[in-house]
Amino acid sequence: MLTKPTNLYIVVPCYNEEAVISETASRLLELFDKMKRDFLIDSLSRIVFVDDGSKDATWDIITSLASEYDEIYGIKLAKNAGHQNALFAGLMTVKDSCECAISIDADLQDDVSAIYEMVQKFSEGTEIVYGVRSNRDSDTLFKRKTAQSFYRLMKLLGVNMVFNHADYRLMSAKALNALAGFNEVNLFLRGIVPLLGFKTDTVYYTRGERFAGTSKYPLKKMISFALEAITSFSVTPIRIISTIGVIACLIAVAVAIYTLVQKFTGHTDAGWASIMISIWFIGGVQLVSLGIIGEYIGKMYKEVKHRPRYIIEEVRF
Ligand code: UDP
Ligand code: MG
Repeated sequence: MLTKPTNLYIVVPCYNEEAVISETASRLLELFDKMKRDFLIDSLSRIVFVDDGSKDATWDIITSLASEYDEIYGIKLAKNAGHQNALFAGLMTVKDSCECAISIDADLQDDVSAIYEMVQKFSEGTEIVYGVRSNRDSDTLFKRKTAQSFYRLMKLLGVNMVFNHADYRLMSAKALNALAGFNEVNLFLRGIVPLLGFKTDTVYYTRGERFAGTSKYPLKKMISFALEAITSFSVTPIRIISTIGVIACLIAVAVAIYTLVQKFTGHTDAGWASIMISIWFIGGVQLVSLGIIGEYIGKMYKEVKHRPRYIIEEVRF
């Protein structure tokens, strides 16, 4: 089957990545040549490096690459905005110029050859293709365990995420335009993209070591990333308060019965019964009240995010 070559943009967020960018660029360019030879992508396809306010020579390298190769573009953010925002900035900048865009980390941990398969799936009509790690052998035990517990926790909290998928994915221009409708400031793309719908597919790859440089996600950033993810997508923590409140009220009833029995069988000191009953009862009532207020705050929180209520995939007249 011979289909029209795809116009592809690759978006690469970079934060202090001077040690890897040149290598990343040459590997992507090599892949571009191959895909062009196979008529998979067209000659207007581009690689876009987004400099997320790096403090090293990252931007200098990007500008020299951009002047050397027609295929390479650069975007410089005015200051460090964080991985998710840098990625979003890149995707939103290219969405009206391309047929589809692939986001990939600068450090070559994600196998670039999976791009080939992603584009093939796109040309067969898939709108979103997730790159999923088939194993995590290259990660440290600590990173592997924390990442796994994170995915489990998110699932438990009712957030629909693709297991072992980071931000290595292909999105069609249509999907990117739908993504543009999400105005939330606390951006967690891995949670938002599955909300879009559309025809999706998966490509598996083995995740390698970082090519050079160090991880830009130290423990502190990992924790804040996880907290961001949970609080941007789930009102379950609020519900937990109500549940604890109801349990406390039930305990209050039990304690009241126990206390009254003790009192009337004469096993108590003066004042003990009234204090026991009120502590549990007031505690329970307070937690339930907090939970109720929390429900309203949860609603407000959903409202202020202004998420689109629906996304149209196709119209025919
Ligand atoms: N990154 C970014 N802004 C940041 C932190 C990271 O653009 O504030 C980029 C970074 O350059 C890399 C990608 O996000 O391309 C993923 O970061 P990293 O590889 O350090 O994360 P890890 O693979 O260790 O989770
Ligand atoms: Mg990495």
